[in-house]
Amino acid sequence: MFTKNTRKSFAATVGLLVVCAAFWARAQEGNKADPLIPPVVTPGTFGTPDAAGTPPSDAMVLFDGTHFDHWETTKGAEVKWKLIDGAMEVVKRGGTIRTKQKLGYGQYHVEWRTPAEVKGSSQGRGNSGVFPLGGPEVQVLDSYDNATYPHGQAGAIYNLYPPLVNACRPPGVWQSYDIIAHAPIVDKEGKVIRKSAYTVLHNGVLIQDNMEVGGGIGKTGQLSLQDHGNPVRYRNVWFRPWREPIPRAK
Ligand code: MG
Repeated sequence: MFTKNTRKSFAATVGLLVVCAAFWARAQEGNKADPLIPPVVTPGTFGTPDAAGTPPSDAMVLFDGTHFDHWETTKGAEVKWKLIDGAMEVVKRGGTIRTKQKLGYGQYHVEWRTPAEVKGSSQGRGNSGVFPLGGPEVQVLDSYDNATYPHGQAGAIYNLYPPLVNACRPPGVWQSYDIIAHAPIVDKEGKVIRKSAYTVLHNGVLIQDNMEVGGGIGKTGQLSLQDHGNPVRYRNVWFRPWREPIPRAK
C-alpha cells in the first residue's frame, strides 16, 4: 500500500520523466536537417589581370595552373599545350583538349586571355572556344575592336546566338566566362517543355540569357577547350554540378 509521501514522490518522478522526454524529443527535432536550408558554400575570389581567381569551396577544380592531370586530347592522348605562368596556353596543332571526366549540367567557370600582341583579324584573332558537355561552343575571340560576324564573336554560342552585348576586355587582359548549362525543364508527364539552355556571364556581364541549345535529360559530356591555332591562355577552370532547386514557399 502506497503512503501519501510515496504517491507524491512517484508523481514527481513521472512528472520529471515526462519533462525530460519532451526536451529529448525537441532536441531530436532540432538535430534533423531541414531540407529547405541551403548548404553553406564559401565563395572564391574574382580573378584580376595580375592574379587568378579562386574557386568556391564546393567546386570541382579542373585546372589550377599547375598540371594537366584532368585533361587529355580529343583522341585521349597526352596534352601538348604549354603550362606557363599559372595558365595553360594553346599550342597550334596541339589539338583541342577535353576533361578526362564527363560532367553534367551546372556552372562552368573559365578565365581566358587572348594574346597581348595582336595578330590577324576577324576569326583569326585570339580564337579558341569553350564547349561545356561537348558542345555547342561558347566562342572565345579577341572581340575588342575586332569586326567579325555577330554569331562568331566572343561570347556567341557559335552559329546560334550572338551575345547580348560585347563585354570584351583588351587583348592580353584576363577575362572570365561563367556558363550555366541548364538541364531541360520537364513537365509532370515527363515531357520536355524546354530543352537544355545556356546562360553566360562574360566578365560578370550577362551576355546569354537562358538560350536553348538542346541536349537531353541527364546529359553528360566532357568540357572541351578549342585549339584554333592562336596562343590563347586559360586558368582557374572549375565546375559546380547542377542542384535540384529548393521548392518555392507555399
Ligand atoms: Mg572558336
